[in-house]
Amino acid sequence: PSPRFPSKYLQFQITPFGNNERLIVVRDTTQLHNLEKMRQDFVANVSHELRTPLTVINGYVETLADNNTTPAWDKPLQQMLQQAKRMSLLINDLLVLSKLETTEAGHNHKAINVEQLLQVVKSEADVLSSEKSQTLTLICNNTTKPLTLQGNEKELHSAFSNLVTNAIKYTQAEGKISILLWQDKNHFYVSVSDNGPGIEAKHLPRLTERFYRVDASRNSGTGGTGLGLAIVKHVLMRHDAELKITSEVGKGSVFMCVFPLPQ
Ligand code: ADP
Repeated sequence: PSPRFPSKYLQFQITPFGNNERLIVVRDTTQLHNLEKMRQDFVANVSHELRTPLTVINGYVETLADNNTTPAWDKPLQQMLQQAKRMSLLINDLLVLSKLETTEAGHNHKAINVEQLLQVVKSEADVLSSEKSQTLTLICNNTTKPLTLQGNEKELHSAFSNLVTNAIKYTQAEGKISILLWQDKNHFYVSVSDNGPGIEAKHLPRLTERFYRVDASRNSGTGGTGLGLAIVKHVLMRHDAELKITSEVGKGSVFMCVFPLPQ
């Protein structure tokens, strides 16, 4: 980039053109970046501002529901409580996502034992899966010595947890869910697979978009926010990793996180 250009957001595209000539296209994306920054700040501010009033509403509705003596109010109060809780989940997820978008990758990195982290995620999820009589297993294969990754523990915990809770949520009672960890020469892999309903191929490329849900009406009882996989994708990007999703309708799904092997 030439110092004559004022913007740091320049994209260069150089294409051979005729004999010994080059066509250089320079795109200034400053305005796009500014708009994206405005969007991120807006979402962060709105979520933050909504959190306090919602906590107050939640508290009062809970007290009203606990002390209600009028049967006709039971249902409306329970619905208010349920919706207020759903809104809190949404706001929390939006705040997590905007933090991921606005803080530098590499923030709070430390050495993490991947197997131990997966054991924590599994033991937390055991309660949920046993409520549905599902089998949840963790298998760590082929890892010669403890696999240690430099990363942000809170972020990675939330990414793996999101994948495991999704598998539990969307898989039928008595289903099977496995968490696998293995490595090859250049990568290590964490996969979460289930024998649930599966996802049609046309949805796969859009699953990590914010608020994208395959079937909103079918999913409405699962209590999700539609932000879980967007969070997973951001966390993995911040660890130079990527998410690969494969699925077959009626058979199940595999969500595989591919990490570069630590040097
Ligand atoms: P949600 O809060 O709705 O779970 P996510 O971003 O985590 O949001 O997931 C997006 C959508 O992907 C879900 O609404 C669901 O339709 C689909 N999905 C995610 N995981 C699975 C899974 N293991 N099996 C089937 N569908 C899934």
